[in-house]
Amino acid sequence: MDELILGSHVGMSGKDMFLGSVKEAEGYGANALMVYTGAPQNTRRKPIDELNIDAGLEYAKQVGIREVVVHAPYIINLANSVKPETFELGVDFLARELERSAALGSKALVLHPGSHVGAGAEAGIGKLVEGLDEVLAQDESGVFVTLETMAGKGGEVGRDFEEIATIYERVQKPERLRVCFDTCHVNDAGYDLVDDYEGTLARFDELVGLDQIAVIHVNDSMNPRGAHKDRHANIGEGSIGFEPLRRIVHDERFAAIPKILETPWRCEEGSTKKTLPPYKEEIALLRG
Ligand code: FE
Ligand code: FE
Ligand code: ZN
Repeated sequence: MDELILGSHVGMSGKDMFLGSVKEAEGYGANALMVYTGAPQNTRRKPIDELNIDAGLEYAKQVGIREVVVHAPYIINLANSVKPETFELGVDFLARELERSAALGSKALVLHPGSHVGAGAEAGIGKLVEGLDEVLAQDESGVFVTLETMAGKGGEVGRDFEEIATIYERVQKPERLRVCFDTCHVNDAGYDLVDDYEGTLARFDELVGLDQIAVIHVNDSMNPRGAHKDRHANIGEGSIGFEPLRRIVHDERFAAIPKILETPWRCEEGSTKKTLPPYKEEIALLRG
């Protein structure tokens, strides 16, 4: 049997940069990791040659870290049809983020499809497709733009599998797209992973194709199914519970792709500061 490809979101900062990310993942017993190439909430980025990538990749090889996933910052919004400067910033940033992802050895750049900011899903999807086409027409990185399934809070695009399918249908190069299946978001979008795991995956397969899933975000949810909230809970402590999450992590159909935890850090006893990463324990728990 193949070894489970399982890791978590890790940081990238300080002098070590990417080497530090790999060491953090090693400390969790992971063999995969996900990084933001800078702060997730802004687009300030260091040049590629300051990320300490060679040392990080060399170390990753030594300690058996097999997959690196990059997550684009949240503020990239290609679905914004209202503010041209937001859209343009998104297009330019995404083009360069694909290059950074390739340099980091990542096959998949996870991207939130964005928000239609009140203009409606149709307008949002139209603008997103325009942006993806613009970026992919020029891009030679070979990295997949990996659209994340969203919880459907506010004006989020990608709130159900139909919307993801529509994006695939409309872009000029659907072969350059993949999907990041986030269990918390899928639950919050209204799909039943608890009592209808197979039905949910069959629905996705029908509309998009299970073979399009390139990354799984393994998160429990603080909110009930269909809440459209997007608050991650620790594994086994939310409305999804341990069993469906264990099941998707061990699902043979996803054996070849990285499974990434984005669960919240914990507080030390008597403190309200989140200083304790849960990943070592959760990785061990899920490996079972
Ligand atoms: Fe995400
Ligand atoms: Fe996610
Ligand atoms: Zn989320």
